Amino acid sequence: MYYTRFDTRFCEIILVGDEQGLSHLHLNTGEGKRSFELSDEWIKNEDYFSDTRIQIEEYLSGSRKRFDVKINPQGTDFQKKVWSQLCNIPYGMVRTYKDIAQANGNANASRAVGMANSKNPIPLIIPCHRVIGTNGNLTGFAHGLAIKERIINHEKLMILFELLLSYYGKQDWWPSETHYEMMVGAVLTQNTTWKNVVKALNNFNGHLSPRLIKEISSTELAEIIRPSGYFNQKAIKLKALNDWYERYDFSIEKVRSIDGEAMREELLTVHGVGRETADSIMTYAVGKPYFIIDTYTRRLFHRLGFDVPTRYDDFRKMIEEAIPKDLYLYNELHALIVQHATEHCLKAPKCEGCPLATLKNIQGDGSSAVFCVKRI
Ligand code: SF4
Repeated sequence: MYYTRFDTRFCEIILVGDEQGLSHLHLNTGEGKRSFELSDEWIKNEDYFSDTRIQIEEYLSGSRKRFDVKINPQGTDFQKKVWSQLCNIPYGMVRTYKDIAQANGNANASRAVGMANSKNPIPLIIPCHRVIGTNGNLTGFAHGLAIKERIINHEKLMILFELLLSYYGKQDWWPSETHYEMMVGAVLTQNTTWKNVVKALNNFNGHLSPRLIKEISSTELAEIIRPSGYFNQKAIKLKALNDWYERYDFSIEKVRSIDGEAMREELLTVHGVGRETADSIMTYAVGKPYFIIDTYTRRLFHRLGFDVPTRYDDFRKMIEEAIPKDLYLYNELHALIVQHATEHCLKAPKCEGCPLATLKNIQGDGSSAVFCVKRI
């Protein structure tokens, strides 16, 4: 037997197998009930598993939905039958233990299916994480519930991104000419529509600059940005943001040279900069990815059946832990969610023709599979 071990963004993974195929994939989370020990008789061989490792890395980056790996899981005939059924659950979707039991010809065998699921020696590749309780709870997972939730969210979010991108196309945000205009826009867009922000920005007649904001009075500034609403408060906020920016000589490069976490914390101390504004500035001006949570994101994720945390940072972390930390992905996904929330998933949703209703645009996953659980 050969083995290899390597780190991924989820946890360390250990692979074990021989010429017959991969026999074990251990998610070394340090949680859950699965105990795993390397045998002294196994030989470490990284090259032997290089293709499997590449496929796992592709899966975790969101570019792979199916594995093409020779596997050799050891178990009873019943367990093997259940494991083979798990492989038919489409990427990004979940089924209940009862669904699998029914597909196996015995609707009363949910418990036995659960047992077989928990013995799956090759998680991820045999996707036992896609099976949940009838009540929608995640129930058990041999490697801990936290990673099960993370893997399920990863798949759903990558599908969400793919469906939105194929329908709306690339958004190329933020819609502004300069980094400074972007930062100003992030403040102006608080409690108003982007249409009103554009009107306010147009009032600068192409002269918007940190120097101008520094030199004009708050009253003059408020008059210019009047179309964005709350203009007196926003003028004070813009002045405060400008003072902060001046500490870096109005240089975005100097801001970028600071550690992301430290910079986000610093931004949050600026008057008028809340978490959503700070994360917009971090992602779109500073170029350090922080996932932006806004009302649209909350509404959409509730409708898609995510277990949405109430606190901003908990929700942000839930998304950030699930998807690759990639600036392009953060940038586009947020912009696509905004686009979708203003075109289809409005307060009163327009579900007809919605690209998230089913998986029909995702090749190979079945045209009729439901994606949005709240479609009307
Ligand atoms: S199907 Fe309806 S509720 Fe679901 S995402 Fe689309 S518009 Fe929103």
